[in-house]
Amino acid sequence: MKLSLICAKCMQEDITTIEFRTVEFKNDGRYEITCQNGHSSITFLQQQKFEILFDIGACAIIDGYYREAVSSFTSALERFYEFFIKVVCIQRILIG
Ligand SMILES: [Zn+2]
Repeated sequence: MKLSLICAKCMQEDITTIEFRTVEFKNDGRYEITCQNGHSSITFLQQQKFEILFDIGACAIIDGYYREAVSSFTSALERFYEFFIKVVCIQRILIG
């Protein structure tokens, strides 16, 4: 599973030839990239894991990889259940 990222420094400097870097999906959400202009930047994704996995599944369908899409959607659903259970547990601890 791969993600496309853009160099944040190129975006700030409004460089016209912005290049997408492809990185492998990581659980911690931290991605370090070096662009063609020599900038090194770190990107933290703020989306929940289930959101990213769902997007990856949608992209897999667009690309024609249906088996990977099913796998990604299944993982997204599992991560969503995990997220829901954590939210409910935290709510019960805080509110009672
Ligand atoms: Zn750059």
